[in-house]
Amino acid sequence: METIRPQKVIDFSYTLKNSQGQVIDSSDEGPMSFLTGSGQIIARLEEELSGMLIGQKKTVSLSASEAYGVIDPAMIINVAKSDLAHLKDLEVGTFLQLDLGEDMKVLRVTAVTDASVTLDGNHPLAGQDLVFDVELVNSRPASAEEISHGHAHGPGGHHHH
Ligand code: ZN
Repeated sequence: METIRPQKVIDFSYTLKNSQGQVIDSSDEGPMSFLTGSGQIIARLEEELSGMLIGQKKTVSLSASEAYGVIDPAMIINVAKSDLAHLKDLEVGTFLQLDLGEDMKVLRVTAVTDASVTLDGNHPLAGQDLVFDVELVNSRPASAEEISHGHAHGPGGHHHH
């Protein structure tokens, strides 16, 4: 049976490392906030954080499929360079936005030759096992406004209004 849990806003700090122990990202500008149940962060990480106490620290290891997914070869395409002639300064690491009407797809340039450009629509961290060192900074019930907006407010959350 499905359990309906009240939505919470969780603040946490983190250091993200790859499986070789290299630091990829961290919350050095202050804790990150998210609204539970909104799909804002990796599901396994949300599950772990939801069961932690304020001040508790934990190391969460995720396989690629639990994190940003495995690499989908169908998302890697080669395009003739002449088709992208209107784009200046194309180089490896450039992100392009492809407008597909309903959604916006972000593609990363992964190779450039004289004749073609390789574009990769996989998440940059797809195919990687990841390790998060996390600390639960705060956890509180979400406000009605946050639930209706679908995101957390306040420092570390969504800035607008
Ligand atoms: Zn809002």
